[in-house]
Amino acid sequence: RLLVLGNAGIDLVCPVPHLPRAGETLVADGQARAPGGKGLNQAVVAARAGATVHFTAPVGRDEAAAELGTALAAEPFAALSLLPQDAPTDLSLLMVARDAENCILTLGAAADALSVREAEAVTAELGPQDMLLLQGNLSFEATEAAMRAALARGAQVMLNTAPLRWDMVPLLPLCALVVANAGEAEALTGRRAAAAAEALHQAGAVCAVVTLGAGGCASAGVEGQLHYPAQAVEAVDTTGAGDTFCGMLAALLLAGQPLPAATKGAQRAAALTVSRPGAFAALPSAAELRVLLPG
Ligand code: ADP
Repeated sequence: RLLVLGNAGIDLVCPVPHLPRAGETLVADGQARAPGGKGLNQAVVAARAGATVHFTAPVGRDEAAAELGTALAAEPFAALSLLPQDAPTDLSLLMVARDAENCILTLGAAADALSVREAEAVTAELGPQDMLLLQGNLSFEATEAAMRAALARGAQVMLNTAPLRWDMVPLLPLCALVVANAGEAEALTGRRAAAAAEALHQAGAVCAVVTLGAGGCASAGVEGQLHYPAQAVEAVDTTGAGDTFCGMLAALLLAGQPLPAATKGAQRAAALTVSRPGAFAALPSAAELRVLLPG
């Protein structure tokens, strides 16, 4: 089983003529609402890939939380726990300019409000066959508490370092697997690409993967250092690439794939997301992911 503990919110995606300048009032070309959040996206991809996924996320006590509940009921989760907090449901405003540059503002009060007690409690069902997948949206305290509780139950911990809001280095020794993008890896280690993966591994993660956009990814760990080229694809919108990569990687590892094969499958899934616009709307379908699964 895979327990994804992370954020869930509403994305308000607005095409704009250009990104706003300081002091400017900008009129959007349109608007679209969709479910969003790194935790949500990664959980959705893993579930669509056939993993037995329990997704737990803090939300508010508002209409947006109900909207999320309805949207997520359509996803193949084994279990879904939206935990009401005394804060509004998280909201992200995504501005996408005509040249495809974007600018994102995230309100994460519900994610921040999840308590250490709640974070520990969600791990109660975990056992040695299970994995806990987290990102950087929850507080450091809640994230660390969930990791330690999961380890105490014999489960493995996978951490995606996005977004990087607090120091994640102290958590690396708790991780069987850490996935960082190029910017996060450099901020955490002062190194780049393969050297950054090796530094994350040396800092305590059993295995580290650094994603490099169109450059693929580099890993370091027990198998030594490896590089995986990305799928050649025409990039339309890279939003959600990292989330697709993480969700698919977790699903393939739980399906028993060794890390190199799982990494290749995760890159193929991420290439699908990159080839179309949007974040949630661009995530691969269950049918698309099924063909990437082992025999
Ligand atoms: P993030 O979205 O977190 O910044 P990356 O941009 O590194 O992460 O992308 C994650 C993975 O998605 C990469 O390792 C790669 O496999 C795939 N990917 C991203 N951009 C492209 C691209 N332009 N072409 C092909 N694959 C891509």
